[in-house]
Amino acid sequence: MNKETNCAVCDDHVQVQRNTPKKLQGGVIYHFCSEECRDRFVQDPSEHTGSSPRRSQAGLP
Ligand SMILES: [Zn+2]
Repeated sequence: MNKETNCAVCDDHVQVQRNTPKKLQGGVIYHFCSEECRDRFVQDPSEHTGSSPRRSQAGLP
């Protein structure tokens, strides 16, 4: 029973399996294509959990 999603860091396609790297953040489980991406997420979760991930350090208007 495989589930498909996108890596929360690099947006690569990910097939969720038992050994897929994942992290629970703010009540949501994020999946990653690799341990490396999970490490990057853990270092700066807010960078990857925002609603506008492509907007960098935009701040409020
Ligand atoms: Zn990734």
